[in-house]
Amino acid sequence: MLARGSRSSADVDTQSNYAPPHIAIRLRRLVMKRASGRCEYCLIHQEDRPETHPIDHVIALKHGGRTEEGNLTLACVSCNNNKGADLTALDPSSGEIVPLFNPRTQNWGDHFALDGARIMGRTAIGRATVALLRLNDVERLNYRQSLIAADRCPQITMP
Ligand SMILES: [Zn+2]
Repeated sequence: MLARGSRSSADVDTQSNYAPPHIAIRLRRLVMKRASGRCEYCLIHQEDRPETHPIDHVIALKHGGRTEEGNLTLACVSCNNNKGADLTALDPSSGEIVPLFNPRTQNWGDHFALDGARIMGRTAIGRATVALLRLNDVERLNYRQSLIAADRCPQITMP
């Protein structure tokens, strides 16, 4: 786990372990507001985590991604760390290499569904993202279950 820095600073750069570039406060606020404070992968709300949700580059800088609103997403520390700079992952059902879910161009509900506390992949992209980001690790499942019990987890209904 990451060492936790002071929560008094609005700058989350120091709390990430892969030295993201400076992201202007205007962009940070836009990303946070656009996501309604929720991780755009596992949906956990900022208020339900002790550490500040990092700003994630959907396409990592090392792959040419840019620090602009169309390439930024709000991700919790667990999702951010598990995703790293990856762009693809294996769909555990088919073994095919597929792109990861892109919160900027795709809808969460098209690729995932909640089955109780478990996040299910509805597509190859969803399944690969669930696996790589370890969205259903036991401690995350248990915590999500406690949030659902407290009515803190959004219910995403199938279209
Ligand atoms: Zn997350």
